[in-house]
Amino acid sequence: MRRVYNFSAGPAVLPEEVLKEAANEMLDYRGSGMSVMEMSHRSSSFETIIRNAERDLRTLLEIPEDYEVLFLQGGASLQFSMIPMNLMKQRKADYIVTGQWAKKAWKEAEKYGEARVIASSEDRTFSYIPDVSDLPISEDADYIYICENNTIYGTKFHKLPDTKGKPLVADVSSCFLSEPADITKYGIMYGGVQKNIGPAGVTIVIIRKDLISDDVLSGTPTMMRYKIHTDAKSLYNTPPAYGIYICGKVFRWLLDLGGLPEIQKRNQTKAALLYEYLDNSRLFSGTVKKKDRSLMNVPFVTGKKELDEKFIAEAEKEGLVNLRGHRSVGGMRASIYNAMPYAGVEKLVTFLERFEKENG
Ligand SMILES: *Cc1c(COP(=O)(O)O)cnc(C)c1O
Repeated sequence: MRRVYNFSAGPAVLPEEVLKEAANEMLDYRGSGMSVMEMSHRSSSFETIIRNAERDLRTLLEIPEDYEVLFLQGGASLQFSMIPMNLMKQRKADYIVTGQWAKKAWKEAEKYGEARVIASSEDRTFSYIPDVSDLPISEDADYIYICENNTIYGTKFHKLPDTKGKPLVADVSSCFLSEPADITKYGIMYGGVQKNIGPAGVTIVIIRKDLISDDVLSGTPTMMRYKIHTDAKSLYNTPPAYGIYICGKVFRWLLDLGGLPEIQKRNQTKAALLYEYLDNSRLFSGTVKKKDRSLMNVPFVTGKKELDEKFIAEAEKEGLVNLRGHRSVGGMRASIYNAMPYAGVEKLVTFLERFEKENG
């Protein structure tokens, strides 16, 4: 068996301990005589799995009682429409556009009401986070929308915008559980789990209870109403059961290693190693404004297309895979999520140094 260091932006690396545990339980989950994949979602075994997953997530993020936790399907992308359909009571929302994902969410919201862009960084290929200290927020906006970590461009909001009392809705797909967060600052925090938490197929939505009601846009499908899912505790229909089970194991893994303060420290150490190399390199350079850099996604370039290609090909031979950048940025991108070990980043930096010596 040969495991590589997988720098994919998503689906992405998972903790080896979690994968091994899941492998051990594959044929007989704790005396049930079956795999979690084969189990009824109404069984007591699965009931325990989903309730423990919710409990551990609540512990990790210190989620207060006035927030609901949902395990849904449809990816982060389905939330682009669920959010306006459930929240746009006055048919108005303000969007901060810091990348493709925020832009897609904004475009979707335009179908349901007046979705205004109140700040954007598109003028410089989304390589920075715009100033959000004093935004022209609409008086009657139902919510303010951000994509907190921009997976493609490698930027992150290090300070949340002042929403002047309006609910903040944040897509945290690629920074979910990477550091402590104050949930009370959010109306909705949501993300697909396939970047930093688990396998594709689960979307976690953490939503403040006062935002959940039967008063949704007319025509909203049953499956797209938050209230249907909160009333049924994420079991309105068959949930992505195996995915939720793996998420639960990742939550335990995080708790066992010391929770979000500890994973934040590890993430900072890993990112610092890579950024410090890039800042001192004569061949490679980061593409993002320093103060807005992400701890999770690190795009970088040589400035020469052929050299980028050569780097990606040679890295792959070293077992450093999925380093190709998104087509809209080019170059390389190293996604160094929670489950990427320090040794993986160290090996990448050692290889970068060698490549620079040979090609610089
Ligand atoms: C990957 C990603 C998405 C899209 O997620 P899907 O689950 O594929 O719909 C949305 N937002 C962000 C920030 C992402 O990184």
